[in-house]
Amino acid sequence: MAAGMGFARVLRRILRVKSHNALASLLGPRRFLSASFKASDLQIELSKHPNPKPDPGKLVFGKNFTDHMLTVEWSQEKGWGKPHIKPFQNLSLHPATSALHYSVELFEGMKAFRGPDKRIRIFRPTMNMQRMFRSAVRICLPTFDQTELLECIRQLISVDQDWVPHSDTASLYIRPTFIGTEPSLGVARSNHALLYVILCPVGPYFTTGSFNPISLLADPRFVRAWMGGVGNSKLGGNYGPTIYVQNEATKEDCQQVLWLYGDDHQITEVGTMNIFLFWKNEQGDLELVTPPLNGIILPGVVRQSLLDLARKWGEFKVSENIITMASLIKGLEENRVKEVFGSGTACVVCPVNRIFYQGKNYHIPTMENGPEIAQRFLKELTDIQYGRVASDWVLLV
Ligand SMILES: *Cc1c(COP(=O)(O)O)cnc(C)c1O
Repeated sequence: MAAGMGFARVLRRILRVKSHNALASLLGPRRFLSASFKASDLQIELSKHPNPKPDPGKLVFGKNFTDHMLTVEWSQEKGWGKPHIKPFQNLSLHPATSALHYSVELFEGMKAFRGPDKRIRIFRPTMNMQRMFRSAVRICLPTFDQTELLECIRQLISVDQDWVPHSDTASLYIRPTFIGTEPSLGVARSNHALLYVILCPVGPYFTTGSFNPISLLADPRFVRAWMGGVGNSKLGGNYGPTIYVQNEATKEDCQQVLWLYGDDHQITEVGTMNIFLFWKNEQGDLELVTPPLNGIILPGVVRQSLLDLARKWGEFKVSENIITMASLIKGLEENRVKEVFGSGTACVVCPVNRIFYQGKNYHIPTMENGPEIAQRFLKELTDIQYGRVASDWVLLV
């Protein structure tokens, strides 16, 4: 790495260009000399008016923000600026900003937890950094050094550490965001961008110990993602249009949307969660199955963690396979379905008890079956997240 940077510096001198990015644009692919901001350049300005901390029992998701935020600006001309930690504040944007017109925007979602030892842990953040990097490439925003961004986030959390709830059910939600700030209406790569990170203390998804199962609307008229599309990237443009469908679900007395795909009505995701089925398959094997990462599935960090845990247990078959509505219904009719649940950072696992599909309600016996596997996943993952069990899946703040 150091040798590569030295080479870039020499090239810059020879070619008489000022910045890494100017050099990169002369030489073509930015990957070749991808410059990044550095955590060691962090400029920290502390808030003079810190806010009172909310009661962790009364938190509504995404409505309370901490005292500080991280911002880093980028331009094609100057490359990355210095990262700043500064008081939480509004942004000032040109009305033509590309994020607002063409959804040149991506985000991430991860959490930090305070353990019984009072220490703060972030859960598998390197996976979020990798996913964010891939989203940036897909939406033509500049790349960055994932380790440097993670270190900046770690320092932001350290500055706002008192905002991480002292609770074994609440946590701090971390929302890295990256927007194109090009002040122009051309549909083209942004020459200006802003990466920022905001933090929200969040309460428990389920009130202590008791799972609340959800009901789903499965309506093949609506499609979340398609082959060749961007459903596997966390781009803002994937989410705004789903709110209408969520409203349709509510009208049909369902809590969330079960996203189907293709003429065979493949089960892909539930709301903004990945989906898991625990059943006895047609061959009679006990199996945990989730759809494969074939381009229309968001590669969830919790999804990967559940697969990793289940493969480590080694007690049943673990598969990444297509599940169709027909095969699920056949499994239900033959009493082979044990549990259906969603997975994601917000809830870890979320049991499903009913699916409304083509005018018919299908009862899913998740709760009647414990839910044994969902319960076990929840316990093992939260034990790791809160540091009750040692694991290299957490980064100490
Ligand atoms: C974020 C997200 C998930 C879950 O990802 P995690 O990293 O496990 O939180 C699943 N599906 C969609 C569509 C998402 O946006």
